[in-house]
Amino acid sequence: MIDKEILRRNLDEVIWGIEEARLRVSEHHIVKLVTVGKYTDIENIETLYSLGQRAFGENQVQQLESRVDKLEALPLEWHFIGTLQKNKINKLIDIKPSLMQSIDSLELAMALDKKLSAKDTTMSCLLQINSANEDTKSGVQPQEAVDIYQEIVERCPNIHLKGLMSIGAYTDDRSVVKDSFETTHKIYESLQKDGATICSMGMSGDYELAIACGSNLVRVGSALFGQSK
Ligand SMILES: *Cc1c(COP(=O)(O)O)cnc(C)c1O
Repeated sequence: MIDKEILRRNLDEVIWGIEEARLRVSEHHIVKLVTVGKYTDIENIETLYSLGQRAFGENQVQQLESRVDKLEALPLEWHFIGTLQKNKINKLIDIKPSLMQSIDSLELAMALDKKLSAKDTTMSCLLQINSANEDTKSGVQPQEAVDIYQEIVERCPNIHLKGLMSIGAYTDDRSVVKDSFETTHKIYESLQKDGATICSMGMSGDYELAIACGSNLVRVGSALFGQSK
């Protein structure tokens, strides 16, 4: 368990980092912070709640389920940000996350929509873009993103598509990371006419750069909790 004062200091630092970055864009540019608890214990999530944080992300359905269950009494917003296996779709639907950020193919969208429809419910989702064309990452290729996005909007009535999510390029070269964020943001801009309002980019190491490139939702874990449990 991390000391509350340490978490308070880490959270303050991240909030001020976000604040400075967003004000450089515009005072009207509002950025949401989703804290990612995958590296940390559930007690630290409760502590962050007591410090005012409300939106939390998990990348595993199992872990999300157990945390949503244990923290049921707290009015939290839960985001799913990981790769969704087909055999976990029903479980995720039952958890009712506020936002599923990681639709990474038309095929997954179709499968999810079918099960949502069978359960007579809907889910808010983002389309994940593999903005640096990395083999190790999930997501649709930038050049096919607009078509796939529009196809999901047309063919998946139970999915409410709200925008895009991307993980910045995995490199120390800031200009390459910036290129990957700009690629996603350009796609986001062209999809605003189709109802996209969320551009989720930026993690602990690059959220300020992501905001400079137009991100309005950042997902931050290790800057708050450190890497280890
Ligand atoms: C783990 C994770 C994060 C947070 O990463 P940090 O570098 O620890 O801030 C953000 N987004 C996704 C999709 C993740 O899996």
